[in-house]
Amino acid sequence: MVLDKLGTSLKGTLQKIASAVFVDDKLINELVKDIQRALLQSDVNVQLVFDLTNTIKDKIKKEETPSGLTKKEHLINIVYNTLVEFLGKKQYKLDIKEKPFFIMLVGLFGSGKTTSSGKLAKYFTKRGHKVALLGLDVYRPAAMEQIEQVAKQADVKVFLDKKEKDPLKIYNNFKDELSKFDIVIVDTAGRDALSKDLIDEIESLNKAINPNENFLVISGDIGQAAQKQAEQFHKSCSVTGVIVTKMDGTARGGGALTACSVADAPIVFIGVGEKIDDLEHFNPKGFVGRLLGMGDLEALLEKAKDAIKVEDAEDLGKKFLKGEFNLLDLYEQMAAMKKMGSLKKIMEMVPGLSSLHLPKEMLDVQEEKLEKWKIAMQSMTQEELEDPEIMSAERIDRISKGSGMNTSAIRELIKQYRQSKKMVKMFKGSKGDMGKMMKKFQGKLPGNFKV
Ligand code: GDP
Ligand code: MG
Repeated sequence: MVLDKLGTSLKGTLQKIASAVFVDDKLINELVKDIQRALLQSDVNVQLVFDLTNTIKDKIKKEETPSGLTKKEHLINIVYNTLVEFLGKKQYKLDIKEKPFFIMLVGLFGSGKTTSSGKLAKYFTKRGHKVALLGLDVYRPAAMEQIEQVAKQADVKVFLDKKEKDPLKIYNNFKDELSKFDIVIVDTAGRDALSKDLIDEIESLNKAINPNENFLVISGDIGQAAQKQAEQFHKSCSVTGVIVTKMDGTARGGGALTACSVADAPIVFIGVGEKIDDLEHFNPKGFVGRLLGMGDLEALLEKAKDAIKVEDAEDLGKKFLKGEFNLLDLYEQMAAMKKMGSLKKIMEMVPGLSSLHLPKEMLDVQEEKLEKWKIAMQSMTQEELEDPEIMSAERIDRISKGSGMNTSAIRELIKQYRQSKKMVKMFKGSKGDMGKMMKKFQGKLPGNFKV
């Protein structure tokens, strides 16, 4: 497994959160320390580690827990999101429009260019593209035999010239034949370090081939040193993305990944083994998810996406309590409720409501009704939504036709609106005995208001 150790440490940390009784400063400090230790062991740059953990701390302090999430879940979500952001947020999109689409691989000796060219050939062949390899490493003896072998494994055609020492000439000789392919992967020569003659060679190839993508291949085992390398290549060779290889064999891969992200070089693929299939299209979200143990996380993230912000809920609640709400607000409340899950769940979350023990059937009907009202409201004009008092028989008739709801459903909605308004007035009058008051209105609950 890639970054086994880092994954195990982070999973252990999250486990700690899950089993903690309270979310307090002590737990948060421990969490931050654990994450720092895990990242440092993975050779992430010290400054970067502190930036990252400070971001986490800041978010914990500033962000309110969205309703629908527990404090612990919110904490885990913050850790997940921060890590994803540090790894570049989004998956790099490969847009293969042109034919032939040239992908050139550049990098130092032994970084994994030739191996990756074969892996890419297989990757794109599997996705239905007609792929060819072009071997331009004229520098190293036996380089041509290696790429021949790799092409055989990927089952693609390879173009090379074992005698020619000028890569440009090789390209020019095959130019016409290459134009028959969808994708051409160009394997180039490397050096021990980024040198002037390597830059010159890459530049002249860049000029002649004008590749659609120019991927820098970096070995993950160099850890945070990847930053300098990525920056240097980025500056001098117009790199469009990075392939980080050997992620399977190193504990320092975390350092390499975060370093590339800092160097503003998007990671496009990662190499996760020596075999032809050991290549992954890098996706920060999926990657972090796996590190943290995706099984548990998936459900949580789904929940977090749907949870509404406390402020939003409070705004609605305030409006509602002031009696300044119209159908649009009622609609918004309904939408908010939908987001938070079933009515039943909301009843559980609001202390005053949960004590009512409403029968399940009633709650189910209520939800069905809400769905109908929503449809009806979509056929109303802005004016009607803002001022339901103008609703006449003709208007109701029109809305009924437009929404396919029968008029009684629409009348019920308006009735509900009036009742809610009345209820708010009473609520304002009462001095807080919620339970009693709620009982009076069993079955007429307008939605989610804060107790
Ligand atoms: P090049 O000089 O940049 O063309 O590098 P090569 O493609 O020849 O790879 C150098 C060595 O790294 C070879 O022994 C490869 O098998 C190995 N290698 C490349 N990618 C990976 C990878 O993702 N994982 C592992 N474990 N080894 C890799
Ligand atoms: Mg090579």
